[in-house]
Amino acid sequence: MRYISTRGQAPALSFEEVVLTGMASDGGLYVPETVPQLSHDDLAEMAGLSYAEIAFRVMQPFVNGEIDDDTFRRLVTEAYATFSHDAVVPLNQLDANHFLLELFHGPTLAFKDVALQLLGRLLDHFLKKRGERAVIMGATSGDTGSAAIEGCRHCDNLDIFILHPYQRVSEVQRRQMTSVLADNVFNVAIEGNFDDAQAMVKASFADQSFLNGTRLVAVNSINWARIMAQIVYYVASAVALGAPRRKVSFCVPSANFGNVFAGYMAYRMGLPVERFVIATNANDILHRTLAANDFSKQELKATLAPSMDIVVSSNFERLLFEAYDRDGAAVAELLARFQAEPTALAEAPLARLRERFASHSVDDATILEVIREAHHRTQEILDPHTATGYRAAERERGDAAVPMITLATAHPAKFAEAVVKAGFPGVPLPPHMDDLLEREERYTVLPAELSAVQQFVVENRR
Ligand SMILES: *Cc1c(COP(=O)(O)O)cnc(C)c1O
Repeated sequence: MRYISTRGQAPALSFEEVVLTGMASDGGLYVPETVPQLSHDDLAEMAGLSYAEIAFRVMQPFVNGEIDDDTFRRLVTEAYATFSHDAVVPLNQLDANHFLLELFHGPTLAFKDVALQLLGRLLDHFLKKRGERAVIMGATSGDTGSAAIEGCRHCDNLDIFILHPYQRVSEVQRRQMTSVLADNVFNVAIEGNFDDAQAMVKASFADQSFLNGTRLVAVNSINWARIMAQIVYYVASAVALGAPRRKVSFCVPSANFGNVFAGYMAYRMGLPVERFVIATNANDILHRTLAANDFSKQELKATLAPSMDIVVSSNFERLLFEAYDRDGAAVAELLARFQAEPTALAEAPLARLRERFASHSVDDATILEVIREAHHRTQEILDPHTATGYRAAERERGDAAVPMITLATAHPAKFAEAVVKAGFPGVPLPPHMDDLLEREERYTVLPAELSAVQQFVVENRR
């Protein structure tokens, strides 16, 4: 299997190359050239298997024989052994037919661990095989940075530099990053805002000469391996509820669309899915596009669900590629127009998307209301991201006989501010993290200057 770009111009790549590459040279994102199929029997045979074994079976065709089966099975097993729940991603039944898929039992308490625990191990495997080292650079306002650090802390051939805006991330989120004292982990607090940090990372990718030939790797959500790892929990949860005999629906709190796109891939592989409900916060580009065909940027709003605060949804391009019948030129043309001005999708692709996707947008006041209401009804305290999903799932339920699985993307202790605003005394961190606020921290404060950051990277990489 090869991987091709959504804009149709960049060369096709192998799995190994696509893991190491990130964005395609034509500005597009990589997707598999063909979609591997899970037959009725393949799915039926997964009933009762461990999460790691299901993960191996779902992902193996995408790896395309480029990692031998024993090694790949070991990488997968190690990645999911870091989760604190034996089921890795347990299902929690809320009412007669509504389930929460708890994706927050990994090291940093948010769903990004599912992908990044595996991605770090895949990168390290390929780099060792090639006898190369690489540098990871990323900017974070929260979840991605800590999940990337946890995913790479044991990787011999990787050094990771994560930039966060100084004094502008929550204490829990900062400490999740800065209390990792591994030799290959470097936290940089930038005297500026998130956009300053992001701009310096972008500039470093655009001109990598400061690294003298060392590979620079991105671990943001456009990396195909992250999507691949996320396909697994859609399959595992549907099988647990009776797939392939019974259909399910999913509701996904969404921002960059990496999570829900993985669900769509599971559907394309043969998983019987009735519908996907896309939940957004007030940054509602996905909802506006689907509901009103308003494909346009709006100003960023800071919400109570900050990990979903986006202006542009980068992975939506992968779905557009499918909706436009894999016509890379049409996708490139649409996105060029979108960058310049408010635009709209063509009718046929939009109709195709509406067959499988519904959407709902949830503002801050409603997030607080939902946290209270869900607790009243189910005794669960939802994190603010999951709260958007809970409401969207109720509003866009569709056929009530079909089980609805809402993805719980973060542990409420990670976003205690919203929980307290909703009127609760707060949420304790889970036992394995209850000393987080006492752990030693290590980070370096630097001015928001590209040269200072790049000099720090060059001097500290191993
Ligand atoms: C990243 C994140 C999301 C959004 O996921 P996408 O793949 O970008 O759509 C939702 N909730 C939480 C808690 C996150 O960290």
